[in-house]
Amino acid sequence: MANQHERTAWLKGGDAQCLTPPGQPLGRPWRLVLLGAPGVGKGTQAELLSERLRACHLSTGDIFRAAKSGCSNDGKLSPALERALDLMRRGNLVPDDIVLAMVSERGRCLRCGGGFILDGFPRTVAQAEATEGLLKREQVQLTAVFNYELPIDEIVSRLGARRVCTGCKAVYHLVNRPPKAKGICDHCGAKLEHREDDRPEAIRVRMQSYQQSTMPLIDFYWQRGLLITIEASGTPEEIYERTRQMAKGQLPPGQEFPAAPMAEKAGRG
Ligand code: AMP
Repeated sequence: MANQHERTAWLKGGDAQCLTPPGQPLGRPWRLVLLGAPGVGKGTQAELLSERLRACHLSTGDIFRAAKSGCSNDGKLSPALERALDLMRRGNLVPDDIVLAMVSERGRCLRCGGGFILDGFPRTVAQAEATEGLLKREQVQLTAVFNYELPIDEIVSRLGARRVCTGCKAVYHLVNRPPKAKGICDHCGAKLEHREDDRPEAIRVRMQSYQQSTMPLIDFYWQRGLLITIEASGTPEEIYERTRQMAKGQLPPGQEFPAAPMAEKAGRG
C-alpha cells in the first residue's frame, strides 16, 4: 500500500527531513495513539486513518525494521540498536531507554502540524509517562487513544498466517487474504515474508509482553478520559467504520471523522 506521507524524518531520525512534508490536515491536526495486542490490526488501521485524516503514521517497529534493512544507517548499527534488534527478533520489548531516546530524537515528528498516529508506541507505562511529559512541553494535546480488542486465539492465528511484502509493506493472510501468486505481492511484485517475530515462539513472548507491559496503558488513558475501545473483528473497512461510530461524540469539538470511501484496500498488520 502506498504511504500517504513519506516518513524520512521519522525513519531516519537525526537531521533527516521529510521530502514531502504533510499537507494541511482536515480541521485540527489529529494526534492519536493506537493500542492493542500485536496482530490485532493496528498497523492496517493506522494506514487507513493516516490516509483519511491526513496525519502521519509513526510506528516505532518500523524504525527498527528500517534500521535492520539498512535503510536508515548505511548498514552500520550502534551497539544499542544491535541489542534492540536481537530482542525484537525474539519477540521481547526493546528497553524503554533505547525506545525513548529514539522517540525524543524525533520530537519534531510529534510537533509536526500535520499531526500523528502513534502505532506501537507507547508500549509501557514508563513510555506513556515520558510521552505525556514530552507532549506537555511541546504544548501538544492528544486527540484520543483508540484501543483495539480481539480474542487472543484469533490474534495468534492471524499472526501465524500473516505475510508482509518486503517492498510496499502490504499485509496478506494465507487464508483470509491470500496473494494472487504464492509468495508475491499483488501490488508491487516484491517477495512476501513471514516476519521473524511472527513465528510461534516469538508470538508467545510478544503476547506475554503485551499483557504484562502494555495492557496497563488501557487504564492509564481511561483515567485521562482519552480511551475509546473498539472491537477489531471483520475487514479493515468494517473496523474503520466501527472506529468512526465509536468516536462519535467522544472527540474534542470540531473534530470529526470523514466517512470511509467505497473501495476496499489491502492492509498492514
Ligand atoms: P511492532 O511492529 O509494533 O509489532 O514492533 C515490533 C517489535 O519492535 C516489538 O515486538 C518490539 O520488539 C519492538 N518495539 C517496537 N516498538 C516498541 C516499543 N514502543 N517499546 C518496546 N519495544 C518496541
